[in-house]
Amino acid sequence: MLLAGQMMDRPLLVLPLLQHAARHHADSTIVTLGVEGTVHRTTYAETYERVQRLAHALVRLGIKPGDRVATLALNTFRHLDLYFAVAGIGAVCHTVNPRLPPDQLRYLLSHAEDRLLFFDTCFAEQAAALVAGVPTLERVIALTDTAHAPEDGRFGDLLVYDTLIAREGVAFPWPEFDENTAAGLCYTSGTTGLPKGVLYSHRSLVLHSFAVAANGLASAGDVLMPVVPMFHVNAWGIPHAAPLMGAPLVFGGPAFDGPRLFHLMDEEAVTCAQGVPTLWQGLVAEMRARGRRPKALTRVVVGGAAVSDAMIRAFEDEFGVEVCHAWGMTETTPLGVINRPKEKFKTAPRERQIRQKLKQGIGVYGVDIRIADGEGRSLPRDGASQGHIQVRGPWIIRSYFKEDHSPLTADGWFDTGDIGTLDPDGYMEITDRAKDVIKSGGEWISSSMLENAALGHPQVAQAAVIGVPHERWLERPLLVCVPRGAPPTLGEINAFLATRLPKWWLPDALECVDALPIGPTGKVLKTKLRERFKHIRLE
Ligand code: AMP
Repeated sequence: MLLAGQMMDRPLLVLPLLQHAARHHADSTIVTLGVEGTVHRTTYAETYERVQRLAHALVRLGIKPGDRVATLALNTFRHLDLYFAVAGIGAVCHTVNPRLPPDQLRYLLSHAEDRLLFFDTCFAEQAAALVAGVPTLERVIALTDTAHAPEDGRFGDLLVYDTLIAREGVAFPWPEFDENTAAGLCYTSGTTGLPKGVLYSHRSLVLHSFAVAANGLASAGDVLMPVVPMFHVNAWGIPHAAPLMGAPLVFGGPAFDGPRLFHLMDEEAVTCAQGVPTLWQGLVAEMRARGRRPKALTRVVVGGAAVSDAMIRAFEDEFGVEVCHAWGMTETTPLGVINRPKEKFKTAPRERQIRQKLKQGIGVYGVDIRIADGEGRSLPRDGASQGHIQVRGPWIIRSYFKEDHSPLTADGWFDTGDIGTLDPDGYMEITDRAKDVIKSGGEWISSSMLENAALGHPQVAQAAVIGVPHERWLERPLLVCVPRGAPPTLGEINAFLATRLPKWWLPDALECVDALPIGPTGKVLKTKLRERFKHIRLE
């Protein structure tokens, strides 16, 4: 017979992360470059005070446990308030990507049945369209002060955030509830079919915060700047993990371009920042223009898409900023694997180190990973066998919001839709999305590795590889690139790639374009590329 443990059964809830910071790291700062262009400074203690006022306001507006509250907002201190106040009263904070087209925004808010919408003033147009198009929406609140609130009749009785919370008291009687209660909602990007809702529980977010802190996605002692937006997978868990560690936060608001990112990081002595590769390209360009890094920056975490060899060399070799690769997805909260160098790679030759850094990383404690073939059989962890990456763990999705059928395999794993390898050291490497993989004569060619290698060519600024039909091999790679300076020829590119990749991987065709189609979460839209180049047939 099992013997029950005798420790307290305290629920893992999101609000105590902030309460902890307010109590033990009261003065730690939260700096925001606001959407109006001014810098705002606050602390964890003040944040907790605002969060209590906001909780009163939410209740006064009729928000009940389980209700959904939407945000259309960038990374700011007010957005952080919402993360904690909404979850704290047992409601669900639905972070919406404002860059989505209007019909998708309407779909998302209607599907979630959001009752309130909090919006940054730079998204007034989107918010106004939603007021008219979402039947469940009762009130909209501008995330600003009275001086900057939009003045037009489209919002009906518009509320202004600062005024709304100013009239409330502090000392909110926080409820305590089951840790499996939903706290946050984020929809997948919907590149295949309709977006699907992922409901994060309090328990999953708290456990994920520990994983973020324990594995160096963010660390105690860092000044953290999540450049990844708070509307995209909980800004990779930084807004929850930072108060857990008492770490200062810097929010860039509208700053996604190299010059503003650099300036803010430099001024606020940011030590560690997280974001997708397209963002970091801008920062690298700015560092090159100035001939230095932001003064305190020691580490960037790159995820959301694969980091390239060229980017690792730029950050590390030119500026001494460590690059840390990570992988995850909306359905995994997102942290799944992260690449911190094992001792044995620290002393390896540079080329070997870089090869290892290009891998997405090692599974963190809490996330089980396996690769499976088409029939669901586990494949060896030999660094060579490619298969479907499947995961399970306490912060991995079990089912999508309002969907009956289970997305899991019969034995309870979530198939990520990514294809990759696992090596004997435990490192996972993504070679493709299942739908993007190029099947040439029955063998798989990795578009991700081809893209990375092509980015090493001096005349290639951006690269994407898609499969196009081939008479004999069924599919062959087409390289689409944005040239840097004079467009390269296929012969030049292939002579370069031939020293790095198997001969049969080399692209059969090259197209140079002015820009790659980028989706709302910063990833290349391969569906658009396939559409654009569907006339290409190779033989
Ligand atoms: P999303 O749910 O929008 O965050 O997208 C998740 C997908 O982004 C994953 O399934 C991967 O295909 C891709 N992804 C995330 N991180 C990486 C990475 N480090 N390298 C390659 N692909 C990545």
